[in-house]
Amino acid sequence: MSEEMDFELICEYYSQLDRQGPGSKETTLKALDFIGPLSENAKVTDLGCGTGGQTITLAEALPCNITGVDIFPQFLNKLNDQSELHGLSKRLHAVQGSMEDLPFDKNSLDLIWSEGAIYNIGFEQGLRLWHEYLKVGGYVAVTEISWLTENRTEEIETYWNGAYPGIDTIPNKMQQLQSAGYIPVASFVIPESCWLENYYGAQKEVQESFLKNHTSNPNAIKLIEEQREEEALYRKYKDYYGYVFYIGKRVG
Ligand code: SAM
Repeated sequence: MSEEMDFELICEYYSQLDRQGPGSKETTLKALDFIGPLSENAKVTDLGCGTGGQTITLAEALPCNITGVDIFPQFLNKLNDQSELHGLSKRLHAVQGSMEDLPFDKNSLDLIWSEGAIYNIGFEQGLRLWHEYLKVGGYVAVTEISWLTENRTEEIETYWNGAYPGIDTIPNKMQQLQSAGYIPVASFVIPESCWLENYYGAQKEVQESFLKNHTSNPNAIKLIEEQREEEALYRKYKDYYGYVFYIGKRVG
C-alpha cells in the first residue's frame, strides 16, 4: 500500500474504527494526570485526532474548549457525530488542517495532545514546530513508537528502520524532548491491551466486511494483508517495541 496509497480506501477502512492507532481511555487519562489543572478558559488541541477516540476522552475530562485537527474530513465527520452524541459539540471543534501549519496563534495553547500521529512529521521536528504555539508553562503530550530494549533481533530492527527510521529508545526520545525546549515531565509505555484489544482486536469485524465490499480490489486486499502482517509482527516482537507516552512542559 505504501507505494500506491489509495487514500480513499484507507479513509473508508479507518473511519469505521474509533481509533486509528493503539491507545485507550485509561492511558489518555493517565497521561492527563501529569498535567496541571486546566481552567474553563484553557485552549487545548488534539493534532492528528483521526475519528477522535481520545479527543472525546479529553473533552469529557477537561472543562475547556478543545480543537481536534486532522487532514481527512471523513475522520472529522465521525468525530463531529461522536461529539454530538456525547453532548460535547459546544466545546469540541473539529478542524481540517495540518499539524505542520497549525491554525492557532503563537503562545496561545495550554496543551497540545497527539496520539499516534506526530510520526507523520517526525517526533523531534514536531516538538520543535509546536513549541512556540504553547504558552510558556503549557504542556505537550504525545505517543510515539519507541524501542523498549537496548538490543533487538535483526528482523524487527530491519522492519522498523524501513517503516520509520525515527524509532529510538525511550532515553533518546526523552533527550529529544528536552532538546526541543521542554522539561521532560514523564514517559510511560502503554499496555499491550491497547494494541491487541483496542487496535488490532477492534479491526477484526471491520476487515471481514471491508474485504466483502472490495472482493476484486487488489489495493483493498493488500491493505488488509498489511494490517495482518503488522499485527503478527507485533505479537512476535512486542517485548522490543511499543507506543510510549511522552509528556513535556514548555520552558522559555
Ligand atoms: N490520534 C488518533 C488515534 O490515536 O486513534 C489517530 C492516529 S492515526 C495513526 C494518525 C492520524 O494523523 C490520522 O488520522 C491522519 O489522518 C492524521 N494525519 C496525518 N498527517 C497529518 C497532518 N500532516 N496533519 C494533521 N493530521 C495528519
